[in-house]
Formats: sequence, C-alpha cells, structure tokens
Amino acid sequence: MVQGEVGCAADMLSAADAVIVAASNGFDIADGYNQFSCDKEFLRVFGDLHRTCGLTSILQGLMARWPDRELRWKFISRLIAYGYRDYEPSPVMRALDQIMAATPRFVVTCNCNSRFERAGFSTDTILETEGSYARLCCTTRCSEATYDALAFVDADEVPLCPHCGAPLDVAVDDAGHIARLEPFRSQAARLRAFLAQHVEERVCILELGVGQANRAIKAPLMAWAEKTQQASYIVVNREKAVLPALPLERKLALRGDLAEVLIDLANVMLANKAEERP
Ligand SMILES: [Zn+2]
Repeated sequence: MVQGEVGCAADMLSAADAVIVAASNGFDIADGYNQFSCDKEFLRVFGDLHRTCGLTSILQGLMARWPDRELRWKFISRLIAYGYRDYEPSPVMRALDQIMAATPRFVVTCNCNSRFERAGFSTDTILETEGSYARLCCTTRCSEATYDALAFVDADEVPLCPHCGAPLDVAVDDAGHIARLEPFRSQAARLRAFLAQHVEERVCILELGVGQANRAIKAPLMAWAEKTQQASYIVVNREKAVLPALPLERKLALRGDLAEVLIDLANVMLANKAEERP
C-alpha cells in the first residue's frame, strides 16, 4: 500500500459532511473476531463443543442443526457472551471511531455481533442487514418482536417466547426474514432517512473488508453514490477493489491489511488536525 493513498483517504474523510461505513467479515477479522476459523481463540472459547460435538467454527454452529435445543442454547449463550457481551473495542475499532468522531456517521454491516453498538456507536446510526445475536426472536416467528439477549445469556434453560411458548433463537439470517423484525426494520428506515438528509452533501462511503461481489451492502451503496453529485467512495480490502463509476477524485482503493490501514489513517488524520491548530 502506498502511503500517499492513506493521505488521500484522510483528505476525503476530513472534507466529508457525513461518513457511511460499510463493514463485513474482513472488518470482524481485523477486530479479532473470526466466524470461519477453528483457531486457538475459537478453541479457547468453544473447545468443549469442538471435542464433544465436532464444532469447527462459529458460523457452522449458527447454521447447524443441533441434536437438541439445550445443546444449541449452550452454544448460542456462550456465543452471545463471547462475541457481544464481553467484547472490548480493539485498536482497529478505536481507530475507526476516531476517524469519524467529528462527523455525522452511519454504519451498515452484515456482521451480526453488534460490536459497533458495544463500542459506543449510537444504535440510531447502525443497520445490521443480517440481524444480530444481541437480539433473540421466536423460532415460529409468531410476532415481529425481538428480545435483549443479555437478559437470557446466563440462564441454563432455553428461553421461550412470551407469546406462544416456542423456543427463542438468535435474530440472525441472510435470507431477508430478519428485515421484517424490530429493531432491524427501523434501522433500515433510519438509513434511508440519513441518505435522503445528506444526498446533496459530501458523503464519504468507507467500505471495510466487504467482499467485492457483495450485493447486500456494497452494490446498493455504490449505486447510491453514483446517483449523487458529491459522494465519494473508499474501498479498503486485500482483494482488488471494485469501485463505483465516479470521477477519479471521488473514489479510492486502499489495498492492504485493514487493521494497518485504519490505524495509519487515524494517525494521519490526528497529525493533520494537530497541524491545523494555531
Ligand atoms: Zn412465539
């Protein structure tokens, strides 16, 4: 990665009237959370389930049909505690927070661990497109309600729906059902309002660790940027970037390690700010 590109990104972000962060798996991994891996960290948290049930990743555990409800809840409750409740913001998350501290901001993410909320980002400015396991919902989908997972996380018994008595499970999916449930429906409405409010301003979209063929968050944000007069778009990724059709000065690809890029970016912006002071 070229250092000059970090400077360009810092200038684009400093000039922005609003910032939209699009974050996916690559950001989670840089933040210390890898839902695909059977690494040391996974075995530290889920080692007993690995030995007894053959569990090899968080994603597998979420998707799997477990032999019984109690075992699934054992996995789910531990995931909620590990991935959400006990999360401490990493240097990468703190750098991101610092980059956007002075600007109206909105986070759009496929990550389902609500770590942005945990790191102090306002719940009014987050859209979780695949839901979050910080919320539970009824497995029969008898209502649109979801429930705070922290209220149940320490219980050994499987939590039950107060309306129909069916088991509750995490409010997570990638098939679109979750979008009908609260708070996710309201989150999407707030993003629409944010985009409408800032459409004529210099909005900078900062895309972090999102698959370059992603259709859930990348494609709609690129299409939105292309329709505006002033929005800019930055892709930070290990892969070769797919950029929207914008004038050259309004788009930028930073290829490299996400953690390094964000920490560099925060440092450059901090140094620029220090220079500006009389
Ligand atoms: Zn129910």
